[in-house]
Amino acid sequence: MNLPNRLPFIVANWKMHLSPSQAEDFADQLGPVLAEITAAAPNALGERFEMAIAPASPSLDRLGQTLRRMAAPRPGGGIALAAQNIHPEASGAFTGEVSLEMLEDLGCAYVLLGHSERRQLFGEDDAFIAAKAQRLVGSGVAPILCVGETLEEREREATLEVVRRQLESALSATEDGLAAQLVVAYEPVWAIGTGRTATPELAQDVHAAIRQALIAHYGTAGEQTRILYGGSVKPSNARELLAQPDIDGALVGGASLNPNDFAKIAAACL
Ligand code: PEP
Repeated sequence: MNLPNRLPFIVANWKMHLSPSQAEDFADQLGPVLAEITAAAPNALGERFEMAIAPASPSLDRLGQTLRRMAAPRPGGGIALAAQNIHPEASGAFTGEVSLEMLEDLGCAYVLLGHSERRQLFGEDDAFIAAKAQRLVGSGVAPILCVGETLEEREREATLEVVRRQLESALSATEDGLAAQLVVAYEPVWAIGTGRTATPELAQDVHAAIRQALIAHYGTAGEQTRILYGGSVKPSNARELLAQPDIDGALVGGASLNPNDFAKIAAACL
């Protein structure tokens, strides 16, 4: 029997915050804070947990250079660079958008897909998000596919139906093509940026349903897919969320803008 081997994964989503120079300052502050907080577990970053930061597009280059400089003494022990968005087409007349080739050139290892702000504020639907996922098949950029229900959907007990539909749309468009690299983030929309967090039990129930859907699609490989929780994660609630069997990490918005808080959330994996 293959036991799950899911390295906990803590991802910052900076949204439309932090300019290139602010991003560099952040990374310069984060390095020593993280080293101090994880001093009892040297090499924890890379061996006990993984971290990534998704800055706004203009900050990708500078942050990527800074993260690579920080990781230089210990290859493989660095913080990964993630993008917040990608366009499904390879190139073309899509003003304001970014392509896979650009993200690969910048050294991005991950990209967020289907964040609820993209779905709600920019009208991205399941089909458009599935097309983005298709673009990533065979590339070196792994998707962090965000799924989650609104408050209205939760209140009419449609949570699992919504989350399964969002997940299935991307999975069926990509067949087995993303089996090895897909990361899923369950983010109840009512918990994002509101200070309201799902209880660990409530989040675990949805994560378990996502796990079942992944296994139904990928077979045992679905046991290895990491499922992150997102929605007002902070140092005070990270540990109990991460203790749940199917919560393999966190996608962190507001609290990731403070290097101390972001480092403490990562240290909750230990
Ligand atoms: C997010 O934007 O993905 C998020 C989870 O935000 P917050 O942590 O601020 O709720």
